[in-house]
Amino acid sequence: MNQQGHMASYGQPQPGYQGYHQQQLAYDNQHMTGVPPPQYGPYNGPVQGYQQTAVPQGPLRPVPGSAPTSVPPSTTAQQPVYNQYGQGDVHNGPAVPEQMQRVPQSQQYMPGNTLHSGSQPMPYQQYAPSLSHAQQLPNQMAHMQITGVSSNSASPVSQGYGPPASRPPAATSLPPVGPAAYSAAPQNIPSSTPQDNSLPQHPFPGQPSPVSTFSSPPTSIGLTGVIHPPSVGMQRPPTMHGQPLPGQPPSGPYPPQPNHRSLGPQPGMPGAIPGAPTQGFQMHPAPNQGFVPQQNGSFAQMRAPQPNYAAPSTGAPNYSSQPPPQQKRLDPDSIPSPIQVIEDDKSNRGSEPFSTAVRGQVPPLVTTDFVVKDQGNASPRFVRCATYNIPCTSDMAKQCQVPLTTVIKPLATLPADEAHPFIVDHGETGPIRCNRCKAYMCPYMQFIEGGRRFQCAFCSCVTEVLPHYFQHLDHTGKRMDYYDRPELSLGSYEFLATVDYCKNNKFPNPPAFIFMIDVSYNALKSGLVHLLCEELKTLLDFLPREGNAEESAIRVGFVTYNKVLHFYNVKSSLAQPQMMVVSDVADMFVPLLDGFLVNVNESRAVINSLLEQIPEMFGDTRETETVFGPVIQAGLEALKAAECAGKLFIFHSTLPLAEAPGKLKNRDDKKLINTDKEKTLFQPQTSFYNNLAKECVAQGCCVDLFLFPNQYVDVATLGLVTYQTGGSIYKYTYFQAQADGERFLNDLHRDVRKVIGFDAVMRVRTSTGIRATDFFGSFYMSNTTDVELAALDCDKTITVEFKHDDKLNEDSGAQIQCALLYTSCSGQRRLRIHNLSLNCCTQLADLYRNCETDTLINFFVKLAYRAVLNNSTKTVRESLINQSAQILACYRKNCASPSSAGQLILPECMKLLPVYLNCVLKSDILQPGGDVSTDDRAYIRHLIASMDVSETNVFFYPRVLPVHKMDVDGDDFPVAVRCSEERLSKGGIYLLENGLNLFIWVGMSTQHDLIQSIFNVQSFGQIDSGMATLPQLDNPYSKKLRSMVDVIRAQRPRFMKLLIVKQEDKMEVLFKHFLMEDKSSNGGASYVDFLCHMHKEIRQLLS
Ligand SMILES: [Zn+2]
Repeated sequence: MNQQGHMASYGQPQPGYQGYHQQQLAYDNQHMTGVPPPQYGPYNGPVQGYQQTAVPQGPLRPVPGSAPTSVPPSTTAQQPVYNQYGQGDVHNGPAVPEQMQRVPQSQQYMPGNTLHSGSQPMPYQQYAPSLSHAQQLPNQMAHMQITGVSSNSASPVSQGYGPPASRPPAATSLPPVGPAAYSAAPQNIPSSTPQDNSLPQHPFPGQPSPVSTFSSPPTSIGLTGVIHPPSVGMQRPPTMHGQPLPGQPPSGPYPPQPNHRSLGPQPGMPGAIPGAPTQGFQMHPAPNQGFVPQQNGSFAQMRAPQPNYAAPSTGAPNYSSQPPPQQKRLDPDSIPSPIQVIEDDKSNRGSEPFSTAVRGQVPPLVTTDFVVKDQGNASPRFVRCATYNIPCTSDMAKQCQVPLTTVIKPLATLPADEAHPFIVDHGETGPIRCNRCKAYMCPYMQFIEGGRRFQCAFCSCVTEVLPHYFQHLDHTGKRMDYYDRPELSLGSYEFLATVDYCKNNKFPNPPAFIFMIDVSYNALKSGLVHLLCEELKTLLDFLPREGNAEESAIRVGFVTYNKVLHFYNVKSSLAQPQMMVVSDVADMFVPLLDGFLVNVNESRAVINSLLEQIPEMFGDTRETETVFGPVIQAGLEALKAAECAGKLFIFHSTLPLAEAPGKLKNRDDKKLINTDKEKTLFQPQTSFYNNLAKECVAQGCCVDLFLFPNQYVDVATLGLVTYQTGGSIYKYTYFQAQADGERFLNDLHRDVRKVIGFDAVMRVRTSTGIRATDFFGSFYMSNTTDVELAALDCDKTITVEFKHDDKLNEDSGAQIQCALLYTSCSGQRRLRIHNLSLNCCTQLADLYRNCETDTLINFFVKLAYRAVLNNSTKTVRESLINQSAQILACYRKNCASPSSAGQLILPECMKLLPVYLNCVLKSDILQPGGDVSTDDRAYIRHLIASMDVSETNVFFYPRVLPVHKMDVDGDDFPVAVRCSEERLSKGGIYLLENGLNLFIWVGMSTQHDLIQSIFNVQSFGQIDSGMATLPQLDNPYSKKLRSMVDVIRAQRPRFMKLLIVKQEDKMEVLFKHFLMEDKSSNGGASYVDFLCHMHKEIRQLLS
């Protein structure tokens, strides 16, 4: 067992890693700060078993002549990836139906490059961009024309400006919801209150009632049973209660921990049940009852006949019935609790550093705070897998249906106490690579023949070691410089790339940022333009910079637009900025080169002057129409002209209705929901943006989109270029600077400042036997292996699926190497390498013992959210349920101890699969309620595509923290409660967050003292639910809660606006939308109901 090896390696003398620190002779002249400390305290030093476990054991692999005949996964040429740009048509992102034709631009638009430009110094007395074509001066940069902008503008009346007064705050990603939409929602005990819609009509005569089905006492319903030997505890502690059980020695290396002292008598935390450690979750119906097979999709057999069921709502799954309140139901305390699993993992694994020395070791959960020591495999912050034991054969993989998948976050930000990847510079020869498969030097390469050659861990090919890289081997066969070279001893590191890795064999120029601001009526009226321009003055001081560089190498440019575009010359030598207007948007070009992209410090005075003037210039605009396609084209052309990669920050407010390439129409139609045509809502309405995206990727032009819509703007289409260029979308519906400015500015700051690589290509190589077959995320692919990213920032992940193409070997395991070639913010070309080695197994039990459900869910979500482009949501839901049922059924059949057929037995590592899967199934993408807008669905879909595991985890199962139980003296958060209304006490205050939304819910009976301490009012009734921030009060409760809010916000990539929700207030319906264990208003099943449904599905597969 790998765990044994892991255990054994601790506490032994570790001479090797001592040396690591002492001999830090500089990794090829790169910075040496942040070298791992010499001692790994708790382990008594570095791990001796490191080399033995991290490097595949066993006989040397055959040399090339006798190499296995299977084709290595990637034998095609690796380097100079640039000839691949613009070739091929293989898309991995949101596919567009091929039949869509490019809009014939030349027929719709006036030909000719017409523009109006100006060199008149500002300030502008009046300003006249909205010129008719008759006024345009072809092909020259005439001085700016200044005439009334509003002379031929459309009247704004019909556009619906500004939010209606009754709109709720816009910061949530959900649209305003009226209470009516939820009027049928249960108030207190949702899962026991009958609902009058979305339920099966037929009463299921003859079904066993819940009483008879679940009449067993809690101990037999719930958490009993022993399935695995105690050694499993290393991976997932074999207890659901976190406490040592009477008479049981603690399993694994962790001492018994009184970890639940802080839990208190929470409803979600059943007390420890004396007995054996729990490995399988068992649900025992009464003997001889079981679950009667049902029609697919309905599993109301758990309940007594419900004569008053209304017809199910169209297309919604109808397996979520409700029992009459008086009937007994499955006790929610007896089914696997996410909180319990999270807390157990924190207790058992949060205190020790996680060493990556051991192959195939499952890391702590994403919800656990832990420190990572890179000792030969990539940190789980960079790479996480759904399973760390890969079945040896494809037959096994098919049998268990567990997807082989990793979620890779190549540029992840590491905590301050973990070493940033070192940069290795091999000089002119560039990185050391395998001759055949081009894999990069890594800890898995095996040096042979006294160090003169090395054998590739990926393709077995033997490569000569170049003289400058030669080093003698020690008596164990390890190079003497093993600990001095990150590429030999660490899982993650970077190589400096040579000119061979650059486009056109030329080192890149530093990237540029172009700010492109919608100055139409809506954008001005909401206060956006004013707020943004004011902020940019200071924000430009925070552009990303390299290491200790004094200033950023990134140049900046500015464009404003409505139905025409205005470029600005902000050259440092000018006294005032100059504007050039391009009103012929049909054939976009950039009217100036010199002075458009500038160094911030050099041009600061001119830039500040421009930012002062923009809000004034357009303050009286009546122009309501905007273009969008030409805006991206303009930015793209500017980067092309400057021969650099870069990012466009587009601040946009409306559907682009003006006559121009990429013009859109309002095609929103919510009636399509739950029909076969629903998928069209996720597809772009024109192929124009698809083609544009391709061009952008080829140039390294990433597009970040900040949307400020007051109505439908077609996010599915507008966001397409962003999606395929690795950009981010932010959406502020009904934006008002006053109310939403904080959120917008925080997002903008983070977005501008974050670590980012440009013009990137990612390749995943694998050892023989598996290969990467599918990729999910925000990027573009023109062939089947290279993930092309105009840019990739520290928040973006790429989820990769692997398939077998040969048998795997238990001894050698499976190796994965992810190589990301990118341009840094200073223009340096680099390769970031992440290596991960996994175990291979011949027993399915080993696979189920080394799984991670959070990662599995991340994969399922991305799979499903991509599938909705081409399938009905119903089909997607069913296939998710089916695959999950197969996974669990295979476990039951092959790994679980024999037991009554009526028992539901879940693998320990997957016992949360049903609850999390249900959250995905009832999400707004797969099962929308009437209150979710088409744009919000497209938006969420976009966000999810590049989320990491911790983000999807909290997004689908929000964190609910009991504020009234917080320890005001400590740093810890209170233990979360399960995400269900039943868990909320009337006398409590709870904080709920999911990474996008942040609520504070106040119970009606909350003590007046607490209310006073937090809200500065005397009673519940006086709390103003419209407050956007908590009052700053000088008492421990106020301080602690505000600090919790700050910490939570800092943990998430997007700023969450705070909403105060009072119990039984009208806003509560919005809050309840996030209580994922409950039945949802759109027909989504409660956790209890869904678990029963899964049980039925599993039983059907087993029978
Ligand atoms: Zn190779």
